[in-house]
This record gives sequence, structure tokens and C-alpha cells, in this order.
Amino acid sequence: MDIAVKSKELNKELDVEAIRKDFPILHTKVHGQPIVYFDNAATSQKPLVVLDAIQEYYKETNSNVHRGIHYLSNKATNEFEASRKTIAAHLNASHEEIIFTRGTTEAINLVAFSYGEAFVKSGDEIIISHMEHHSNIVPWQMLCERKNATLKVIPITHEGELKIEEYKKLLSAKTKLVAVNHVSNTLGTINPVREIIELAHAKNIPVLLDGAQAVPHMKVDVKKLDVDFYCFSGHKLFGPTGIGVLYGKSKWLNQMPPYQGGGEMIKQVTLEKTTYNDAPLRFEAGTPNIEASIVLANAIDYVNEIGLDKIAKHENDLLLYATEKLEKIQGLKIIGTAKHKTSVISFVIDGLHPSDIGILLDKQGVAVRTGHHCTQPLIDFYKIPGTVRASFAFYNTFEEIDIFVRALNKAISMLK
Ligand code: PLP
Repeated sequence: MDIAVKSKELNKELDVEAIRKDFPILHTKVHGQPIVYFDNAATSQKPLVVLDAIQEYYKETNSNVHRGIHYLSNKATNEFEASRKTIAAHLNASHEEIIFTRGTTEAINLVAFSYGEAFVKSGDEIIISHMEHHSNIVPWQMLCERKNATLKVIPITHEGELKIEEYKKLLSAKTKLVAVNHVSNTLGTINPVREIIELAHAKNIPVLLDGAQAVPHMKVDVKKLDVDFYCFSGHKLFGPTGIGVLYGKSKWLNQMPPYQGGGEMIKQVTLEKTTYNDAPLRFEAGTPNIEASIVLANAIDYVNEIGLDKIAKHENDLLLYATEKLEKIQGLKIIGTAKHKTSVISFVIDGLHPSDIGILLDKQGVAVRTGHHCTQPLIDFYKIPGTVRASFAFYNTFEEIDIFVRALNKAISMLK
């Protein structure tokens, strides 16, 4: 079947051509060819509504929040707090449970420091998995070092799924927190997070989910999941960089000490003693990224207007289509073949280095990520130097996958 026809058929519910008009950068030429942007897991592109909202903020609103009594400061504060409510509604949380951070990394560091100060002591254990991003490894290693605690790791199968039976064995009276990703950035694996949470809660252990790679692709309901902490980054959700979100259950946030000291996070300061604000402001010291906090709500509204169900369906079609095409390439091995995956394909090719392939793809206008993807322990598990990773968003097309596969075949023939 002609690919354009197939694409239309598969995409009945999503008008990708219309959507692409919302993303000016997708019309860029790279080395003389239209860009094929398949590096969405690293960061996503921004629609016009987001770009316009950034300008509008600086033209019409710019002022500091929570401080002034003047018109602009009130306007900025209202928009900032309205965005917090939009984010809360999107996650089915309450707005006091939404903390603005710089991104997923800062959100995890906040919990590792603050929850760690309140609840982790010598001899305790924290559980992570073998497929974590460095952002969900290093903060816990630092905490364990500070507190003389131990980091335990859930092993994975060769397909890239968590070994749940092994996880069950790791849960004990010493476990103070389980921190795993909802979706793996390197493998695309969607982890069975409800089961992970239920098993931990049966032993009264809280769970943090790194949702950086989940939130752009699926509806996340923190109440339904009953998760204790959930983190994501705005820039992967079609919003600005420098903004992220930590959701935390009030029952935990209210018991956690501040992460950083400064303005905004205080109730009363004297030179002898300071009392702290309630959550979420207690965890938001200093002037926040006001513009990005506000604009993140525009990105969320945009995604919701398209519909996360439709997005997931289209991205899954892209995943299946690309997987089928790539599997036909001799010597190509897909890394990460879990049953449940988002639209991420990592692969290696016999005898070729991922970065050589990446460079030759770039020369043909195709942007992919190569290397360890900030998951070195996972890459070591597979005993490979890294992977080539193609990651799709809802604005990607079947035609782009064809271009990518042709470019890949050309790169292989040049390198072999
Ligand atoms: N966790 C996962 C699963 C990721 O994919 C990433 C970024 O790639 C991060 C955490 C870190 O996100 P950020 O750099 O936006 O803080």
C-alpha cells in the first residue's frame, strides 16, 4: 500500500499535517533537507501557542510573584497560581501538592534531600531499578552516602522489563522509598507502576515515579496510581526548558524540611530563627521561573486539546511501523523489546558504532540521539557502547520513518 494512503488510514483520528503547522521548527532544513526530528525523548519541539505565550508573558505580564501589591505583580501571581491549578487538574492532584522545580532532575534531588533528611537513617535502604536515568540514580547514591544507607537495585530481563519477583524480595522493613521510572528513556519500557506501588504500599513504603518519559505520551492520574511522589519536565511535554513539576502527597510534604533557604519559602525570619511556609511554597525558595511556570499550562492545554488517547494511538502506530521496518535491516538489533512500550526505539548494528551512524543520519537531515542516554548502568548491562535512539512524538509521520530508514540503510552501506 502506498505510504501516504496507509498513513492517512492509520491516522484517521489525528490530523498530523495540520498539527505540524503548529510547530515552526519542523519546517527547518538541515544540510539542505527537511528535518526529521526523532529526538523527542531528549526534548520535544514547541507549538506556536507556547512560543506566543512566552512573548505575551514578557510583553504583558512580566513582574515578580507573591511579593508586590501592584497590578503586574498580581497579574503574574494569578497566572502563576492558575498554572499550578492547571497542572494539578491534569494530574488529578490538589494544587498544594504541586511544586515547581527546574525539571525532573531537581524534583528528584528535592525528594532525595528533603525526604531523606526527614526519614532516612543509617542502615536504611532505597530501591531503584537497573533501567534508571542518572537523575534517578545519583541523588539516591548521594543520599545513601550522607546517611550511611544502602541502594538496592531491581534487576531487569534482557527484553528490558523489571523482574518483579526480585523486586518483591528487595522490599523489607529497612526500605524507606522505592524510586523508579514510569517509562524508560532508553528502552521505552512502560513499567507496571500500579503493581510496583501496591507491593510497596503493602509494606507502608512510599514510591516516587520519574515520569519524565511518561507524561508526554499518556494520561497520568496520581490519585488512581496512589503514587507518593511524581516528577516530570516541561521541556519534554512541549513546554519551555527550566521548568518541571514535583507532585507530592501532602502527608509527606508536610513532614519534609525545606530543600533550599531563601525568599518565598519563609513565614517569619528573625536573625535568631526562621519559620517556614507551608507546601508548596516551602519548597520554592527564590524567584521561580515565572514565565516557564505559566507557559507550561499552555503546553498542557494544547496536548489536552489534541487528546492524549489520540496521541498514544498515533505514536503506537509509528512505533509498530518503524519496528517492522528496522527489524528487516540485517545486523540491526533492537534494545528494549518489552511488551508495553512508548514510541522509543533503541538499536545497535553489528560492527558499527552508534555515534558514526548518528553523524551520517544527521548529514541526511535525521536527528536521533546516540550514546548512553544518561543510563550508563543500563548500557553496561547490555554490554554495548551505546545505542542509536529514535523517539517519536505525535507530530511525526510515517513518511519520516521511511526517510529515516532509507538514510539508515545509506549510512550502513557507507560504513561497511
Ligand atoms: N528521567 C528520565 C527518564 C529522563 O528521560 C530524563 C531526561 O532525559 C530525566 C529524568 C531528566 O530530565 P531533566 O534533564 O529534564 O531534569
